[in-house]
Amino acid sequence: MELAVETRALGKRYGRSWALRDCALEVPAGRIAALVGPNGAGKTTLLHLAVGLLRPDAGEVRVFGRDPRDGPSVLADIGFVAQDTPVYRDFTAAELITMGGKLNRRRWDAALARDRLAALGIPPDKPAGKLSGGQRAQVALALALAKRPRLLLLDEPIASLDPLARREFMQALMGAVAESETTVLLSSHLLADLERSCDYLIVLQASRVQLTGAVDELVDAHRTLVGPRAGS
Ligand code: ATP
Repeated sequence: MELAVETRALGKRYGRSWALRDCALEVPAGRIAALVGPNGAGKTTLLHLAVGLLRPDAGEVRVFGRDPRDGPSVLADIGFVAQDTPVYRDFTAAELITMGGKLNRRRWDAALARDRLAALGIPPDKPAGKLSGGQRAQVALALALAKRPRLLLLDEPIASLDPLARREFMQALMGAVAESETTVLLSSHLLADLERSCDYLIVLQASRVQLTGAVDELVDAHRTLVGPRAGS
């Protein structure tokens, strides 16, 4: 089984406090994996370690068997959408797609991004700042997918969206993944939004991995762990 992400005894601390501790997990390639946990559990820290933005203080993280900090060829395989979709608000989707092409020359699929946004009815010539939050999230997703990543990391992509936009985002994501071989790891503080769309689950709590495995097998265990309200 090929692993998209693998961590061993991974730890990160800020000052004297550990944001992530003794983290051992595996994300099999080809899955849509949910990284679930309450605020402060360490989700962002884990994603930042996986994309090489942070250096581990203990253990190691591998993306397709390689250290993400090894260099551009590893990073070229990873798409990353940070929390709060930092799309440059002054620019239109069309401009952002052109800019992305200059940064990611060889792998960039501008037509894919344009087609995705056209299918969603997102105007290409409107500044991103004037789009709705749901549309901005879709622009960020289309840009990340245009890089044709083997691994797509999404940090709380639906947290600030209304229920309809959440559903639309998850549908767009599932459709995109079905057409490619991209592995997805996305974080959320609620499992309920992801239960139907993700097939692999990692639960983080208090800086530690509490559960990991196939969603079908773990949803009940997660409810027991966090209580029925937190999972719904
Ligand atoms: P949220 O959903 O609120 O973003 P999270 O699960 O993503 O939470 P992290 O952002 O990884 O959690 O934070 C884990 C812990 O590390 C928290 O206690 C947080 O306060 C702390 N932390 C995160 N970044 C820093 C930093 N730059 N400096 C100090 N402490 C930090």
